[in-house]
Amino acid sequence: MTNAEMMTHERAAIVSIGDELILGQALDTNTHWLAQRLTERGIRVIEHATVDDDRARIDATLRRLAADVQCIVVTGGLGPTADDLTRQALADAMGQTLVEDPEGLAWLEAIERARGRTLTAQRRVQAQRPESASLIPNEHGTAPGIRGVVDDADVFCLPGPPREMRPMFEASVEPALRPPGGRVIRAELLRTFGLPESVVAERLGALMDRDANPTVGTTASGGVVTVRIRFEGAEAEAATAMEAACAQVRTLVGDVLFGEGETTVPAALVDALRTRGERVLVVESCTSGLIGAMIGSVPGASDVFLGGWLTYANAMKSAIVGVPPQWLDVPPGVPPVPGAVSAETAAAMAEGALRVAAERGIDAHHALSVTGVAGPGGGTDEKPVGTVFIARATRGEITDVRHFLIAGDRSDIRERSATTATGMLLHHLRGGTPDVMTWQMETT
Ligand code: AMP
Ligand code: MG
Repeated sequence: MTNAEMMTHERAAIVSIGDELILGQALDTNTHWLAQRLTERGIRVIEHATVDDDRARIDATLRRLAADVQCIVVTGGLGPTADDLTRQALADAMGQTLVEDPEGLAWLEAIERARGRTLTAQRRVQAQRPESASLIPNEHGTAPGIRGVVDDADVFCLPGPPREMRPMFEASVEPALRPPGGRVIRAELLRTFGLPESVVAERLGALMDRDANPTVGTTASGGVVTVRIRFEGAEAEAATAMEAACAQVRTLVGDVLFGEGETTVPAALVDALRTRGERVLVVESCTSGLIGAMIGSVPGASDVFLGGWLTYANAMKSAIVGVPPQWLDVPPGVPPVPGAVSAETAAAMAEGALRVAAERGIDAHHALSVTGVAGPGGGTDEKPVGTVFIARATRGEITDVRHFLIAGDRSDIRERSATTATGMLLHHLRGGTPDVMTWQMETT
């Protein structure tokens, strides 16, 4: 056995290759997916590298990483064209030349024959591999993968398209992995909504010490603050340690917790409504349809989502859901009235939606409304850009209206308003919207 064959895959790196990734024209979803697969197997991923279609840079990256890890998974650059340079770069890093693999050649010829074509010189390149490397079969495309060894590190080169890469990884790379015995990595995600990341972190306190095990960290995106809990150690200790850490997190941020794993706020809302057999309406001003789109994008939303109105103009707010027109259009010189962006108007929109629905025989339990200043124009000293009022009206209950000042540009403000509206109803259904959820919101 060679050194590489005996070595445990303690540490791994992922390399994605392609100009399109470097230039920001395509999103690198392969790394995201591979990192999860390797981590699940207890292999510690220590670096993600993204390299353009440059033979020397790919070569240098492979050599550099091979000095540090026992396993490298590469994706991209295995096609037949001049910018597909992974096989040459791998040969360079292995200090070998490329040879034609007879079985690979026969396989490529068979594919072309089945398509009524003959193998061109250009495509024939895909049968090549570094001398001591082997080809990895591709069940879903024409580019075989290549497995080689650089500086005692196993290198698996896979095609770029996810629909070819994923099955190839599962069929040929996973079985070849040698994760460290007895050691596992376990990760859990707990999702919170309604508190800024800094406040969540403050509440978690000492749990977030970097040298703790499990480690607890936070990331914020689209208003959702995710608490990540990660254990690395003996398999026998994993379950107990994870349960204890998760329980502590639940105690500290339980009031804003809404789900686990990949759950989103709208998905959790649809779930909570379905459990209770309740339905919701929306009536939107500055979000102009975003709340409806968010709820509607959840599979199965039809069980709980009735629809709603897009009352962008003042005239629509009055004509459709009955907001008193004298609140909205203010002739100069009259005493102050609530205005289109106000708690009163938000409440009247949501309550009006429930009333109109009831008059027409529609059985709605809740209505969500949003009115605000999304900017960039339209702000005043009293109601600056980002001022947003969100109301939740529920049949037989006092309407909950909240005032937010949301940071960011027009699109941030609209997106955040829509998520916040769904979050307000979600928290209500789960036992009460926390009082902390109002006013200042960070946009992360
Ligand atoms: P290639 O293997 O370089 O010929 O890549 C072919 C196609 O695969 C690219 O045009 C992308 O659409 C896709 N692709 C390549 N690398 C990635 C990646 N890291 N994540 C997601 N898709 C990718
Ligand atoms: Mg490419």
